[in-house]
Amino acid sequence: MQFHIITIFPEMFDSYLKGSIIGRAIKDKKISIKFYNPMDFCEPKKRVDARPYGGGPGMVLRPELFLKAFSKIKIPSKIPRVPLGKKAKIILFSTSGKKFTTGYAKGAAKKFTDIILISGRYEGIDARVQKILRAEEVSIGDYVLTGGELPAMVLIDSISRQIPGVLGKYESLEEERVSTSEVYTRPEVLKYKGKNYKVPKVLLSGNHKKIDEWKKGG
Ligand code: SAM
Repeated sequence: MQFHIITIFPEMFDSYLKGSIIGRAIKDKKISIKFYNPMDFCEPKKRVDARPYGGGPGMVLRPELFLKAFSKIKIPSKIPRVPLGKKAKIILFSTSGKKFTTGYAKGAAKKFTDIILISGRYEGIDARVQKILRAEEVSIGDYVLTGGELPAMVLIDSISRQIPGVLGKYESLEEERVSTSEVYTRPEVLKYKGKNYKVPKVLLSGNHKKIDEWKKGG
């Protein structure tokens, strides 16, 4: 899977993409990440943003610069009329977009070879970019962030986990089979401020049927 990120702040991704499972997935060539910075196409002494038509406090990102950045993306599956071919997806982050879920991540990991992620800033990107590229607007939740870089990292992380070989065999099987957010490790009894906090007995029982039932909430 290739992720192509259009952002004016590519350096924000540096440490995140080096670490842990995602860093390993890049090293193992399970995923690759390319950046396209609209700033690179900005005329000297001009700004990447401009005042909004109709007024308002925030600045709007200029469409030509995002379209120029987009035009640098090279995808082998390009076919006429479908701008980037059937196996490529264009996502533009927006607070009012389609809600991102694990289901979305699973579908995307299966269907696409290339995903283009367009991150906004300030008041957003001139709406014509979304219209011209027929990009799908995606939101990662009902809150407003300062930019689309965190959403891009969220999608990369969540979609990459669904790509075969990115998680270790055991981790991915375990995730498919039964998964819970309530997890425990040593010590069996944790002493904190005079109180004892114990690991649930069932997890120490060795009875895997019962453990699975407990993980499923039963
Ligand atoms: N008033 C604008 C709005 O409601 O869309 C605020 C834009 S926000 C400050 C700047 C950019 O951050 C957006 O254009 C979008 O790319 C990104 N963004 C912010 N919150 C987001 C969210 N919950 N999901 C996806 N993208 C988000």
